[in-house]
Amino acid sequence: MSKVILQIDGNNFYASCEQTINPSLKGKGLVVLSNNDGCIIARSAEARKMGIPMGQPYFKLKNKLTQLNINVRSSNYELYGDISNRLMQLLRKNCEELEIYSIDEAFGTIKRPKGKCLYQWGKDLRALVYQNIGIPISIGIGETKVLSKISNHLAKKIKNNSGIFDIGIIQNKDHYLHQIKVGKVWGIGKRMSIWLKSKGITNALELRDMSSEQIKGKYGVVGLRIQNELKGNLCIPIKETSSEKKEICVSRSFSYPIDTFEDLNQAIIKYVLIASAKLRKYNQLSSAITVFTHTNIHSKDFFKSEATEKISIPTSNSRIMIEKSQSLTKKIFKPYKKLIKAGVILHKLQSNKYEQNLIFNSQNIQKDLYLKRLDNIIDNINSKNGIDTINWGSTIIKKEWSPSRKKVSNIKTTDIENIPIIYAN
Ligand SMILES: [Mg+2]
Repeated sequence: MSKVILQIDGNNFYASCEQTINPSLKGKGLVVLSNNDGCIIARSAEARKMGIPMGQPYFKLKNKLTQLNINVRSSNYELYGDISNRLMQLLRKNCEELEIYSIDEAFGTIKRPKGKCLYQWGKDLRALVYQNIGIPISIGIGETKVLSKISNHLAKKIKNNSGIFDIGIIQNKDHYLHQIKVGKVWGIGKRMSIWLKSKGITNALELRDMSSEQIKGKYGVVGLRIQNELKGNLCIPIKETSSEKKEICVSRSFSYPIDTFEDLNQAIIKYVLIASAKLRKYNQLSSAITVFTHTNIHSKDFFKSEATEKISIPTSNSRIMIEKSQSLTKKIFKPYKKLIKAGVILHKLQSNKYEQNLIFNSQNIQKDLYLKRLDNIIDNINSKNGIDTINWGSTIIKKEWSPSRKKVSNIKTTDIENIPIIYAN
């Protein structure tokens, strides 16, 4: 038995999530838009076939999408995050090790019985994921991370493969590596790709067989590692990821630039409340908070500002976080700057199992307990009845600068009210 690396990827992930919660969209053209309904960031396979390009501004393609009867959705990250968690949990049960690489990608390992092709194993996993979560996945299998990535690429590229490819079982890989352009090899960036092309290296096969000295001379160990992985020698190990978060970031782009302290302060407080509710959900505490904002990166007088403060006693309490963030917002605000985005990062996270003992007087302990109880009550009401049913002060006032999500799907897998009711006669 030998260890193999799997690379698993959710196909057209955001579009697939929308289709799985609304099956009437399955088999139809569908695109998902970025924040503020700006650009197209995901397409269903059907929209792709109809020639809709990625990354294009929505307003430019609006008429075309209507003509082709393509459905449009604003991004619903709460939904995608929840489906991603479910996907990763299921994958973790079926792999020996799992490294979550992005919202829809993971590397895993399993053992290969001597000389056995893992096509059937992949087919079963694919069926299991589709049955349980409703998301189609592609599986690439190989001896190394770089090869499993190539394998996944081939799984998508070669028809009749049902989204699975096992390059690890193939002795002579030349035919397949020849098909992969050098820029598509995992780890090869734009600059490296240009350099390789200038040396006459255009595909993965040529990269594998080029002089190691030459690549080492220019890109050191990093380049050598990619080449070795192409040869089938594992150099980039799996980094198992724990479900514990290292930091929580909540940031949004405004629907139009804002320039008053009141607006910035209100936005930041709103993000602080979302972030601290997340902390409590994951049973964590934070001991540092950063707030940041910036103007349009392409503007002449680009302005960017951030400030951080340590929190002496790690906490997940909304009120303490709001107090800290308000003094930080005063530091980062500058008049007449047209701010387009702001956000909050809670870092230095730790489990709430090891809460520090307070050396305060009894009055403060009592106050702390009240604040905790208040947070719990707010979280419970909001989780039962939807975000912002009850919240702090003016943050629940809907401001016009809130990011526009005109076409967001109403269904959430995180809200009990949204579970469909099935009637049986
Ligand atoms: Mg994907």
